[in-house]
Amino acid sequence: MLTINNKNLNHFKNKFKKKINLLALDVDGTICLDTRYNKNFNLFFEKKDFLRSLRKLIFFSNYNVVFITNQSGIGRKYFSINQYKEYIQKVMTFLDLNYSIYVEKVFVCPHRPEDNCNCRKPNGNLLKKAISEYKVKPESVLMFGDNLHDKIELNKATNNKGNFINVNNLNNIDRNYY
Ligand SMILES: [Zn+2]
Repeated sequence: MLTINNKNLNHFKNKFKKKINLLALDVDGTICLDTRYNKNFNLFFEKKDFLRSLRKLIFFSNYNVVFITNQSGIGRKYFSINQYKEYIQKVMTFLDLNYSIYVEKVFVCPHRPEDNCNCRKPNGNLLKKAISEYKVKPESVLMFGDNLHDKIELNKATNNKGNFINVNNLNNIDRNYY
């Protein structure tokens, strides 16, 4: 359960207003329930509380918002890259229309863990790529994730200078972030 109220949110915004340029979002388990390898948009269950708060957070900001996501279902041939593109495009349109959250780009690792690729979270390179494409400072990155892997990804990509918020832990936001 999310506990950002408007008062908290203003503190939160003030803290990050000048500093944050890139907002990196994990997808499965963070903006929606993790339906694992099911990429049927009809089974997209958005996390409403989180997305409503995110909408407020970014409303007057000009953050670049990107997705940083592992999709080993592609490597496992549960779905194709094109099917995934179609799916995530629907997700992006949905977020834009329903929450005014405009996601600019998706950075995705399509490999299986056993492929030993160099882009799978948490080796840091997916987020590093986003950071270099958007030419932002490591300390201006804010990542939302649901998992230790997301935090490790951030720490590796930013040399421990980035900001991480675990969406399952948002009621600790007071203690951790201002
Ligand atoms: Zn990969």
